[in-house]
Amino acid sequence: MFSRTLGIVMGVLTTTALVVAIGCADAFGPLSLPGGVLAAIVAAATLGAAVGVTACLLTRRELDRAVRALTRHIESLRHEPLTCEPPPAPSWLRPVADHMAQILGDQRKRLDALTAARRELEIQLRIADAERRHAEAILQSISDAVLVTDAFNEVALANDSAARTLRFSLDGARHQPVDRVLRDPTLVKLIKDTRESGNARCHRQVEHHVHVDGREQVFDVTLSCVTNPQREVAGVVTILHDVTHDRELSELKSDFVSGVSHELRTPLSSIKAYIEMLIDGEAPDDKTRDEFYHIIQTETNRLSRLIDNILNISRIESGLSRIERTSVAMPEVIRDVIETMRPQAQARRIELNAHLDPGDCLVHGDRDLLYQALLNLVGNAIKYTPEGGRIAVDAGVDEAERTVFVHVTDNGVGIPEKDLPHLFDKFYRVEEHKKIAKGTGLGLNLVKNIVETVHGGGVRVHSRVGEGSTFSIHLPWAEEGR
Ligand code: ADP
Repeated sequence: MFSRTLGIVMGVLTTTALVVAIGCADAFGPLSLPGGVLAAIVAAATLGAAVGVTACLLTRRELDRAVRALTRHIESLRHEPLTCEPPPAPSWLRPVADHMAQILGDQRKRLDALTAARRELEIQLRIADAERRHAEAILQSISDAVLVTDAFNEVALANDSAARTLRFSLDGARHQPVDRVLRDPTLVKLIKDTRESGNARCHRQVEHHVHVDGREQVFDVTLSCVTNPQREVAGVVTILHDVTHDRELSELKSDFVSGVSHELRTPLSSIKAYIEMLIDGEAPDDKTRDEFYHIIQTETNRLSRLIDNILNISRIESGLSRIERTSVAMPEVIRDVIETMRPQAQARRIELNAHLDPGDCLVHGDRDLLYQALLNLVGNAIKYTPEGGRIAVDAGVDEAERTVFVHVTDNGVGIPEKDLPHLFDKFYRVEEHKKIAKGTGLGLNLVKNIVETVHGGGVRVHSRVGEGSTFSIHLPWAEEGR
């Protein structure tokens, strides 16, 4: 590098000497300097200029090469990870290269910090996404209808149950004004009022009626304010809990309590009255006394049947652990039932016959419960058959089905078709029959529970108004002894 610099200096000096020599030649004319000296100066100047030009060319080439290397290095950084290594450079370019390396180092640190921050954000985003999906899954699994609205009364979140109950499409509801999504002005008003109350601790509970598929449903609606970190109201969470069934059940229960009280009071009052008459000597002859005793016996039986029904229902509903199973011959049970019910049938001049298959009608079950089920069926047949009617109890074995069947057929009032699907519901009574006989609507429900839940069998009914009814039960036969 030094020799090149010297070359350049020499070049410059000789060029200057050449210029001076030519100048002198011009100024003093051809005779002022001896020809040999001038020629020597010109030759030296020419040589110096040639050396200077060559040095310049070499320096230029070296400069080009260094700049190219530096450019290549910078270009390579586009594709390769940032490095703090100083780029290759000649010593005269070193300060630039070092400065560049330092800038690169700083940039690398910033890039590393940004990469780490981006990774952290990605992790947080993934966690937030998983938490959001988890929260949505929880929201969807809630059977209550849940609707969340924001500070602008727009739908922020809702679950399937809300969409079903309040009849809107979940897809298009998000970020839509609540009054455009819900077609229930009362509920919309409740939501808006709650938000506008501005009370962060606002929590309201109201009863609300909604028509779903032509049926009125009752909901307990809870509206709670959602607050932001500044404790301002940022939205409202509305939860609709369906209490229709609870209401129906509590109505049924109170109907049941009043029905049962009435049913208990009627035979009790009758028993009390006849006993008082007997004590007061109001039955002077044996015939009257027998009549009174008979009434007392019938009413006592009625009372005990009612109490048995209630107790058996609670026995079945409290679990099957208290069921005692033995091998039960159904014809024997039927004979006992007919024996018990015959006086009642005779009192109303109703013919009561049994046609029992001599085959092996054995069932593995609870004798008392099976007796109770048949007693209810025969009791109903007597209750809903006018005086002078006919009742037949048939029992046999269905080889193909491997079941024992019992049919109780009457030629009584029959059951309207619309009532047939509900007949086995608890407390259900046919409206038209309420005048014909007293009842609680528990008997058939108990029959169904005994036959289906306890014994794994089935109950069917076939009936025509004015012609009569047939109630059939099928029970799996007992395998032992076959
Ligand atoms: P209840 O105590 O009212 O008799 P059940 O559960 O035994 O209660 O019967 C439910 C309803 O089914 C009765 O109220 C009656 O309307 C109808 N029902 C039951 N058995 C007969 C029948 N053999 N003939 C006509 N209707 C019947």
